Amino acid sequence: MVDVKTGDFVVPGDFLATVEEFVPGDGAYEENGRIYSSCVGVVLVDARTKHVSVFSRVLGPPIPKRGDVVIGQVEEVRDQFANVFIEALRGREDRELPIPNYGTVHISQTHTGYVKDLSKQFKPGDIIRAKVLSARKDIVQLTTAGEDLGVIVARCSRCRELLELERTKLHCPGCGNVEFRKLVRDYRRGTL
Ligand SMILES: [Zn+2]
Repeated sequence: MVDVKTGDFVVPGDFLATVEEFVPGDGAYEENGRIYSSCVGVVLVDARTKHVSVFSRVLGPPIPKRGDVVIGQVEEVRDQFANVFIEALRGREDRELPIPNYGTVHISQTHTGYVKDLSKQFKPGDIIRAKVLSARKDIVQLTTAGEDLGVIVARCSRCRELLELERTKLHCPGCGNVEFRKLVRDYRRGTL
């Protein structure tokens, strides 16, 4: 049984359905086999895909959740963390969802190994693929540890030319500069 129907107005914590019948979509979460609303909004029950979602008119675009994959641009690299402007969230059907938001990658979350110098992992302007560790209020904690996470496009820090991958280093075809990053396995080859 579904207690709510499409168009109902709900608030965070409102019971929506059980996991036996439905899958939590955007704006919904599961706890102990029951699905609840995570935001203030209007319910959408999709009988075909078995998703129950809540579309927020108050909060706007979807909020990234733990495990979501996002695409962002590195804005600033400090000693302990990098600030990232999150440009898109990879949606459930591999759609790109616009979610302008800020995230950070802590130095301990950049790589599976020990990282001493964060400026050898990222530089401002790099486009990265990252995974959401946690999202609370305004701060989204990201990780780039893993083969499919890291820098997907980088430009030369001297002349801004796109860097080309040569084994484990990045080479600038413009000025010959050699740089290092925490790269994805499919640097400049894969999809976003
Ligand atoms: Zn260059």
